[in-house]
Amino acid sequence: MSTHFETQAIRTQTERSQFSEHSTPLYLTSSFVFDDAEDMRASFSEEKEKNLYSRFSNPNTTEFVDKVVAMEGAEAGYAFATGMAAIFSTFGALLEAGDHIVSARSVFGSTHTLFTKYLPKWNITTSYFDINKPETIEALITPNTKILYAESPTNPAIDIIDLELLGSLAKKHNILLVIDNCFATPYLQNPIKFGADLVLHSATKLMDGQGRVLGGVTVGRADLIREIYLFSRNTGPAMSPFNAWVLSKSLETLAIRVDRHCENALKVAEFLDNHKQVNWVKYPFLKSHPQYEVAKKQMKLGGNIVAFEVNGGIEAGRQFLNNIKLCSLSANLGDTRTIVTHPASTTHSKLTVSDRLEVSITDGLVRISVGLENVDDIISDLKQALK
Ligand SMILES: *Cc1c(COP(=O)(O)O)cnc(C)c1O
Repeated sequence: MSTHFETQAIRTQTERSQFSEHSTPLYLTSSFVFDDAEDMRASFSEEKEKNLYSRFSNPNTTEFVDKVVAMEGAEAGYAFATGMAAIFSTFGALLEAGDHIVSARSVFGSTHTLFTKYLPKWNITTSYFDINKPETIEALITPNTKILYAESPTNPAIDIIDLELLGSLAKKHNILLVIDNCFATPYLQNPIKFGADLVLHSATKLMDGQGRVLGGVTVGRADLIREIYLFSRNTGPAMSPFNAWVLSKSLETLAIRVDRHCENALKVAEFLDNHKQVNWVKYPFLKSHPQYEVAKKQMKLGGNIVAFEVNGGIEAGRQFLNNIKLCSLSANLGDTRTIVTHPASTTHSKLTVSDRLEVSITDGLVRISVGLENVDDIISDLKQALK
């Protein structure tokens, strides 16, 4: 029976045990047993689809992956301990020494460090493009380029890139398109529809949505996932069954949570847009967003992250954080709790002003991960903090 997103998130389920449980139990087991020598031989040679050892697969991680595969419209997937494990293992599995990546400059901080500090150890190099100048991408592609990589919306500046354009470039040059879809979630955006070969997520963020566990997942083409699976079952970045069990239950409420996150975020963005202490606001579904039309084309709603610039630079940004009473000052995002950060004085303080500007981080930029508290209370807190 063909079903919709919300139904897939709830009804994709591991086979029931002999106890006929309704909700999938937690399978805390490192290994699995075999009936006899033949069963063991057939399982190890993959003639039989059977769990062998939880570094390879486990009923809980399989259920979590199957849900994300269904929600993203992918063929297969593999679950990781963290989002960074998903990103590192995806590159580790697919790239050889001498290969080249073309990536958006504004990517998650640790991903950037992976590109600049660690992948060069294996002679894998990266060229960067400005997400607001997609016309410059093609000139960066060389015969060694294997992967085109981007996030949309970006962190923390909430820029949007046209996924359909990236899909057509990847196809034209016969390279893989890999998209970090963490900020959008599979509910708001499905990059595979626009030509992505692989989609990866930090499940730590909106997928869990409650700030409890770390996790990551890569889904996409079955032949690529096979390589990623073989790499990962031998190098060990697997998701724990407990985290998979938590995350699989979280996915059942993803659609309803993200709907409210987006409704609250739009109201927060509209409030900030009209505030005299605010220079500008960036939210994908505000008409003033430079890529509003692209956002509307590829996203169902605008997401839960709002970026804005408080008038008065670094000091005003710090002051705003110090005035916050209800919201949290924290590094996470996508939680039920609203989280406020000031990148120039915290996460990106080590960069020079001009390096920050290359990824659209101005001194007064504040990022809000809008949570699920009553939106009037969130707005009241922001209002008193801006005074
Ligand atoms: C948090 C995050 C990651 C890394 O995920 P972890 O689970 O913290 O390892 C990667 N990409 C984006 C966009 C993120 O927000």
